[in-house]
Amino acid sequence: MPDTPFYAAGLRFSCTRCGDCCRRPSGHLFLSAADLRRLARALRLSDEEFFLAYCEVVDVELAQRVSLVATEDDSCVLLGDQGCTVYEHRPLQCRAYPFWGTSLVDAKAWDAVAASCPGVGGGWLWSKECIEQWLHRREQEPLLDVGEHGEP
Ligand code: SF4
Repeated sequence: MPDTPFYAAGLRFSCTRCGDCCRRPSGHLFLSAADLRRLARALRLSDEEFFLAYCEVVDVELAQRVSLVATEDDSCVLLGDQGCTVYEHRPLQCRAYPFWGTSLVDAKAWDAVAASCPGVGGGWLWSKECIEQWLHRREQEPLLDVGEHGEP
């Protein structure tokens, strides 16, 4: 990351709750251990019950990550008619969107996100410090890697 990133003056974004980022066939929705526990409690399930009902293990390079499963139309299993059914408890990956490392590599990457997200470019002006706090939080809360151990 350069010393003065392209977002030094901040970036505008406010979620429009369109749900488009929950309907992407392009990627998985990976969970940290804290995400799994929080979602399980929100749905009044044990961690194991939540895992069995809503999660799958996905091979990612050398890791085995826990992801929310997708429905037949490639939506997140927790997306309902009115949007996210667990919005207050949604995973960190969702909370941090669109301030992901891959989106912040350079202005071109950010423009690509803007092209698919109606919330980018308007609404709240997020400062450089706030944006980088999302990156920091994700570093501090690693994704689950079940490795050889199977279920978390
Ligand atoms: S958990 Fe909620 S916000 Fe995250 S992808 Fe699923 S429906 Fe969308």
